[in-house]
Amino acid sequence: SELRRRAAAIVQEREAGLLHLAMHEPETELPNRRALLSELTRMRQGDSSAVAVIVFGVDRYAAMRAAIGYGLSNEVVREIAARLLRTCRESRVAHLSTGVLGLVLRRPDLAALQAEVEALEALNPAYRVQGFAVDAFLRLGVAYAEGPGFDAEALVEQATTALDECRRLDRRRLVFDSAAFPDPDLNLSLMSDLRQGLERGELSLHYQPKARAEDGCIVGAEALLRWRHPDRGPIRPDVFISAAEETGAIRELTEWTIRRALGDVEQLQWAGRRLLVSVNISGRLLGDQAFRDFVLATIEGGPGDLCFEITETAVIENPAAAVEAIAAFRKAGVKISIDDYGVGLSSLSYLKLLEADELKLDRSLAASAHQGRRDRLIVRSTIELAHGLGMSVVGEGVETPEAQAALAELGCDLVQGYLIARPLPLADLLDFLDAQAKPDVTAAA
Ligand code: C2E
Ligand code: MG
Ligand code: MG
Repeated sequence: SELRRRAAAIVQEREAGLLHLAMHEPETELPNRRALLSELTRMRQGDSSAVAVIVFGVDRYAAMRAAIGYGLSNEVVREIAARLLRTCRESRVAHLSTGVLGLVLRRPDLAALQAEVEALEALNPAYRVQGFAVDAFLRLGVAYAEGPGFDAEALVEQATTALDECRRLDRRRLVFDSAAFPDPDLNLSLMSDLRQGLERGELSLHYQPKARAEDGCIVGAEALLRWRHPDRGPIRPDVFISAAEETGAIRELTEWTIRRALGDVEQLQWAGRRLLVSVNISGRLLGDQAFRDFVLATIEGGPGDLCFEITETAVIENPAAAVEAIAAFRKAGVKISIDDYGVGLSSLSYLKLLEADELKLDRSLAASAHQGRRDRLIVRSTIELAHGLGMSVVGEGVETPEAQAALAELGCDLVQGYLIARPLPLADLLDFLDAQAKPDVTAAA
């Protein structure tokens, strides 16, 4: 019987070992995808709290592994996992694939969950393993679900797709809010809704003023799309614009936007206001010959005062075509602005490539203007560089008087952000401009 007991113990130990093998990634000894899925499945049977799956990709993992070897890179991954667990208590971390970690979080409601995801974004990239300093830059893909009975596999898949998209767009974080953006089929139906929405007047443009940093005078405005869906209510532009980019609806949408913006420029001019009106243009459209023909035909004989904002990272996909299109637009009198400057990794090479009239410092960069000495130095040098290249500089996302003052002091030409005004419908923009002008009248009187 002693023998039987030992045999049973060995079998039990082997089973535990096999279970461990089945649930763990051999290289890092961290729980694997299967472990994460079984955890999620357990959660979906529970109460109706909110769940997030966040997938982290270590940027350029293969290059890091080539530089420091398998052993150390695995250690970096383990170190990241440990830091994630310290940041989010009561969470589970798994090693999903090479250089990719997954985290599940459960919190009572969506707001609490989102706040915590924000905190994860700020994770410091510097790690120390076996005495070496390693920078591991993380990208995040996020998917949320609320209430019991969600599809665990679909959630992990959504978060992973978001991460892929994040890498492709060279963005730090991308969230596919499962409530607004559940699956590819619905995505497609959203796009047919968009076409109808355009016809039914559900889309509109709001304008966010751009003020001169030195005296606050409003000299421009950025057109931002708004869509109020009849059943779903307002849909965020980053959600329907990335869907429109995927499905090819972006050209139609942008052409509508340009026509509408030019109409509004005329209205502003009738009201005695000359503002440079900026429209956001997806990088993908720059290679599109039909779009180029549309633009050149539409602006001919038009009111002028038009600017295209192009996001830094979007152009790189087809640089030659983009440079050519931009040159043609500039020749026709359209100003070119480089949007969200300073979020991507390729900022400097981008400046070398593109001739533009304006550089927009991304919110994260602009907000750091009054922070530390190093941040200030970076912002100041960026502004000087842009000036040297003949561009004016806009600070984006300015929310506080301190940020505005610091930007002005560093030589920034224009500021844009909630401090000056939120994006406004055209009628409200006109009221805002009138109100701005009034203090001068009383001062003169
Ligand atoms: P963007 O071009 O960088 O636009 C600035 C975004 O920052 C806007 O978000 C604006 O509402 C927001 N914002 C402005 N001031 C502040 C501030 O002080 N604090 C904070 N936290 N945010 C501020 P919105 O309207 O949600 O647009 C998001 C993005 O969607 C835009 O980023 C742009 O890339 C894209 N988008 C909007 N309209 C269009 C369009 O007509 N065509 C294309 N292709 N993209 C568009
Ligand atoms: Mg913009
Ligand atoms: Mg921007």
